[in-house]
Amino acid sequence: MSITSGFNPPTEDDLREFLDLSIDMLCIAGVDGYFKHLNPAWEKTLGYSKEELLSRPYVDFVHPEDREATIAEAESLAAGRNTFTFENRYRCKDGSYKWLRWTGAVRAEKGVIYASARDITPRKREEARLAAQHAVTRVLAEASTLAGATPQILQAVCESLGWEVGAIWRVDKKEELLHCVEAWQLPSHTMSDFDRATRARTFAGGVGLPGRVWARAEAVCIEDVALDDNFPRREVAVKEGLHGAIGFPILVGGEVLGVLEFFSRQIQKPDARLLEMMGSIGSQIGQFIERRHAENALRVYARDLETARHVAEEAARTKSEFLANMSHEIRTPMNAIIGMTELGLQTKITREQREYLDATKSSADALLTLINDLLDFSKIEARKLHLDHVGFKLRDTVEDAIRVLALRAHHKGLELACHIRREAPEALVGDPLRLRQVVVNLVGNAIKFTDRGEVVLSVQPESRLNGNVRLHFAVTDTGIGIPANKQQLIFEAFSQADSSTTRRYGGTGLGLAISKQLVDLMGGRIWVESQPGQGSTFHFTAAFEIQNPAMLQPDSPGGRLTDLPVLIVDDNETNRRILEEVLTNWHMHPVAADGSAAALAALEKSIAENHPFKVILLDAHMPGMDGFGLVERIKQNPQCRGIKLVMLTSAGQPEDVSRCQTLGISAYLTKPVKQSELFDVIVSILSPREQPPSVAPRPRGASRSTRRLKVLLAEDNAVNQMLATRFLENLGHHATVVGDGRAALEAARAGRFDLIVMDVQMPDMDGFEATAAIREFEKTTGEHIPIIAVTAHAMKGDRERCLAAGMDGYVSKPIRVADLESAITQAIAAKGTGDAGSTSKAEGCIIDEAAILSGMDGNRRLLRDLARIFVADYPKQLAEIKVAIQMGDAERLRRAAHALRGSVGNFAAKRAFETASELELLGKNGDVHAAQGACVVLEGELSLLAGELKKLTMISRGRDAKRRKSDRKRLA
Ligand code: ADP
Repeated sequence: MSITSGFNPPTEDDLREFLDLSIDMLCIAGVDGYFKHLNPAWEKTLGYSKEELLSRPYVDFVHPEDREATIAEAESLAAGRNTFTFENRYRCKDGSYKWLRWTGAVRAEKGVIYASARDITPRKREEARLAAQHAVTRVLAEASTLAGATPQILQAVCESLGWEVGAIWRVDKKEELLHCVEAWQLPSHTMSDFDRATRARTFAGGVGLPGRVWARAEAVCIEDVALDDNFPRREVAVKEGLHGAIGFPILVGGEVLGVLEFFSRQIQKPDARLLEMMGSIGSQIGQFIERRHAENALRVYARDLETARHVAEEAARTKSEFLANMSHEIRTPMNAIIGMTELGLQTKITREQREYLDATKSSADALLTLINDLLDFSKIEARKLHLDHVGFKLRDTVEDAIRVLALRAHHKGLELACHIRREAPEALVGDPLRLRQVVVNLVGNAIKFTDRGEVVLSVQPESRLNGNVRLHFAVTDTGIGIPANKQQLIFEAFSQADSSTTRRYGGTGLGLAISKQLVDLMGGRIWVESQPGQGSTFHFTAAFEIQNPAMLQPDSPGGRLTDLPVLIVDDNETNRRILEEVLTNWHMHPVAADGSAAALAALEKSIAENHPFKVILLDAHMPGMDGFGLVERIKQNPQCRGIKLVMLTSAGQPEDVSRCQTLGISAYLTKPVKQSELFDVIVSILSPREQPPSVAPRPRGASRSTRRLKVLLAEDNAVNQMLATRFLENLGHHATVVGDGRAALEAARAGRFDLIVMDVQMPDMDGFEATAAIREFEKTTGEHIPIIAVTAHAMKGDRERCLAAGMDGYVSKPIRVADLESAITQAIAAKGTGDAGSTSKAEGCIIDEAAILSGMDGNRRLLRDLARIFVADYPKQLAEIKVAIQMGDAERLRRAAHALRGSVGNFAAKRAFETASELELLGKNGDVHAAQGACVVLEGELSLLAGELKKLTMISRGRDAKRRKSDRKRLA
């Protein structure tokens, strides 16, 4: 059976029907260029009648741009190619074009072509739309501004869609008009009239193509502008052959910002896909604008932020400088106020006047504190504050800091205690003044905000690494506490936990801000733990270098105190704990009692056990029977006669002192007790030669220097002249006043002064210049007069500047008597001469023990140690001088003589000192030969001095030996 069985071959009708029903356009064309036969699909697709199509050469219907290619294709068929496939555009009856895809075969022998054409316009349009969209996306991705992107967008759309002209319009909201931003046309077309008409125009909403797009906020398509009544550019468009048009909005958030329009020479049939695509290009552009806006806004924001930062920094700097200048200016008159008040208080005045002056002084002191705070704060803010890097003793610094607050604590009836753990290294390198400032501030606050209970400072090491230690300080109080939500805030400048704080407690809210900054500078952190109503603990850490491993532990108390039985009587538990730990560290044997009753019980027990206490440390103020009552009871017991009593009193209770003396108490100490003082007191009361009661702090007012010094005072300000003169006189010195640096220089050259107090800022020749000139002059005399600088600057670097300028000491304004006194003592001690003193011993004496001791703050042990070192060392130094003279080495002579002069200086040995100075000068002047004689004199002087010193150390040693012996007896 064949496959076709059951079917007859197609008849002619079958074939005609087949052709007529085909949706593809089928044709038979002659090689003469005319269609010969067409199926009905042609009429349907292009809109022409069959007759119209058959009557004209088919190339007439081809798009002008495709004609050439179409002819070339036909020629290649004529040349013998059998089959073909190609695409071209055919014009429809309505003037529009359709893309046709041709396939066919040639029957050369018949002179005909059989061909089939398919309408591929939808596919072609889709491709063009995609190409346009893609091109626009790429342009926008690469563009940085819309203005830069606009011509490229117009070009991309025109080229992709085969449109001739494009323009973009901007909405001008103010004028309510559209303005042309840019117009573009295919390079092959020069429609300058239409271009000009477009660029020159504006459109109101609803007018023309752009106006309609704007008004409707959607795409608008015009099939043929020639037929459109709302197209003001119609005439010129028609003249230039433009017909189809499409416009669409650029939308940002639903608002029309602009309009894009495109024109084609061809009539445009409504095309939903094209409109959709244009809409999507419009919103793409909108998004681009939005993004750019956001970026620009961000850029503007960042720029504004940067500007604001600059402005703020500048403002902060200006403010800080202003504060620094202002506080500097205020310090000068403050100098006079505080100084004059201090002087007034030392005169004979009525009680009422004293009250007034006391009030003035405390206000002035408060003001000065505030000014110092402001200065500190502004220095820190202006980043002008740098920390010192000097060696210091932890205990001394901390205990001194809290001692200044003892009086305040006492007035409020608070216990103030300081507990430095023994693991804390003692010798540190850092900035003791700034550490002290933080401690004073925190402890001061604790006292201020606590009405009853105690304030305890404790210090312990947190970590150690490579010769550094991080210490943890904690200040605990039992005061008002701080609410949780204020605990961060209070570390900010000018902030207080409660707005009523200033009224109730005073203060500025600067203290913690400064402390925080200082702690930051010290490489630590500060924080607080607090419960309102329960109290607060302020913690801070700070890093220091450890000075010298040998000095890490507190001084060893020595064997004779080992196991010393000591009774501690104090109602405050913290104090008891601290004292117990301190005494235990010294290997003593402390027993603590919390009140007089317990103390008496412990005492009886110790006597009964035949192991009585040697020392009792008692708190003067305790509930029930106080310290004095307890002493009276102890004194009544004959078995207690040998026991040494040390009363711990609070600062500012002069009646306590006199009661101690009346009751025959061995010594009394002011709380908070300094470890070193407690140690000294215990040692001294146990020594056989009982010393007068140790009093701490040492009473002020009476001059500590036994010598009356001739002082040259250089100061230009009349008030300050008077003030400093009074201060010096009160310290027992005599002042000669000059008004500027030049006069100071002349006076220093002419007169014999022991000391110069030199204001740094003076007209004509300032303190630095004057000092330099004096030091220059001294090169010719070999003298060195101590110069103490007085400056109103309290800035870092001033001290170094003064010392570098050749000054020996430094006090800052406002001058405090105590500061001046200690600067003078130090400068004179450093100089080490015992000359010119009206109260110094007779000229003939080798050494003046009293003068030496006064230079060493009365420290006999130090004197003995120094003497021992000197006696052992000086022969080597003398030998070095001799070698230098023998070798004629002037520099070596100068160095050796300088070193010896320094050693001799400690002992106020005038002649030896002068001879050493002379040798040093000879060395400096290169005059080695003349040194021989001086060397002989020096040798004689030194051997006399050594003899005296040996005697001195023998006496001391004897005293010590006796003391040890009697200690042994006592402890046995
Ligand atoms: P000032 O004490 O001058 O106001 P500070 O900066 O030293 O400034 O302290 C800021 C605030 O922190 C204080 O006003 C107070 O409200 C709170 N404060 C500080 N220390 C304590 C404390 N020990 N107990 C309770 N409140 C405190």
